[in-house]
Amino acid sequence: MKITFPYMGSTIVYYKIFELLGHQVIEPPRPSQHTINLGVKYSPEFACFPYKVILGSYIEALELGADTIVTSGGNGPCRAGYYNEVHRRTLQSLGYEVNIIVFNSIFEDIGQFWRNLWLLKGKNSWAKLAGVLFTVYRLAHAVDHLQTIVEQKRAYELKRGSFTKVFEEITERFHKEAKTLADVDRIYREGLAMLTAVPRKDVPEAQKLRIGIVGEIFVVMESSINMNIAEVMGNLGCEVTRSMCISKWVDHNLPNFFGKSNSKIIKASRQYMEIEIGGHENENVGSIIEYKYLGFDGIIHLMPFACLPELVTQSITPQISRDHNIPVLTLALDEQSGIANNLTRLEAFVELLRSKKLHKEIA
Ligand code: SF4
Repeated sequence: MKITFPYMGSTIVYYKIFELLGHQVIEPPRPSQHTINLGVKYSPEFACFPYKVILGSYIEALELGADTIVTSGGNGPCRAGYYNEVHRRTLQSLGYEVNIIVFNSIFEDIGQFWRNLWLLKGKNSWAKLAGVLFTVYRLAHAVDHLQTIVEQKRAYELKRGSFTKVFEEITERFHKEAKTLADVDRIYREGLAMLTAVPRKDVPEAQKLRIGIVGEIFVVMESSINMNIAEVMGNLGCEVTRSMCISKWVDHNLPNFFGKSNSKIIKASRQYMEIEIGGHENENVGSIIEYKYLGFDGIIHLMPFACLPELVTQSITPQISRDHNIPVLTLALDEQSGIANNLTRLEAFVELLRSKKLHKEIA
C-alpha cells in the first residue's frame, strides 16, 4: 500500500502512524492555489470549501503515486458523512484506482473499525500497533503543545518570524528522528528549551490581547487555507489560541472513561443549541463562552463557504456576543479568500479590542 491522507494541520502525526507501521507514505503537498483549483474544478459547485480542498489534495497525492487514502468519516447532518463516497466516485471517474479506508467512530460500526485497524496493522503484532498508536498520541500532544506556545508568544518576539523558524526546526526533527516514545519525549523537551530561548519583549499584562479562534475543524487547523490567521494575528500583537487541534480531536473522541471529553464545553453551548446539528458548532459556541470566562478579549470565527453548521453558529454569535460581552468577528473562507481582502478587517478588529480594553482600564 502507498498510503496518503487528507492534509490538515499537524500532518506529521498522520505521517508517523503509517511510517512507524512500515508502510510507504506519500505525503500530500501543502495545499496551494493549484490544489484549490483542482478541487474546485472537479467538485459540485455547492460542496463546502474543505470538501474541495481535500479533493484537490487527494488528486495531487495520487499523481505522486499513492494508491490508498486513509481518512476519518462523519455522520449526522454535516456533509462529512458523504464526503468519502463522493470523493471515491469522483476520483474513479477521473481514472484513479484508489482504495479509501474510512475510520468512522468506533461506536458506529465496531466491526468495520477493527477491520480497518487489521488492514493498517499489516504484518505487525497487535502490541506493536498499540505501541505505535501510543507514541503517535504523545507526538500529537507534543506538537500541539509546542505550537500553542508559538501562537501565544509570537506576539512578543523581538525579531519577526523567529518563533515560526524555531517551530519549523522542531517539526523537522520530529519528522527525521522520532521513531520511539523516548525520541518524542526528548525532542519535545529540547523543543521547549528552544522556544524558551527565543528573545521576546516584555509587555505589561494590561496591554496583552488574547484571541480565541473557533470554527469548522479543517479551516481552524489548516493554515494554508485560513490565510495563516494565527501568524497574522500574532504579527498584529495578539496571543492566539485555536479551539481545534488534532490532539484535542482525538481526546474528545475517546471513550468517556479516559476523562478527556469536552462535555463542559458542550454543556455551556446548550443554552443556545439544544441539539447537535453536525460539524463542531456545539464546541464552537461552548468555546466562545469558555474563552470569555478565561479572560480572552475577542473571538475570530472561521466559517467555510457552504457550511451549514457554521452558518447556524454565525447566526447565533451576535446573541452570544451581547450576552457575554465579547466581540466576535466571523470570516467566511472560500477559494476567493485571501489575506489582502481581510487584513483591514482584522486590523480594525484588533484596534477595537485595544480601545475596549483601554476604556475598561480607565473606567
Ligand atoms: S462542518 Fe461544514 S465544512 Fe466541515 S464537512 Fe461539515 S458541512 Fe463541510
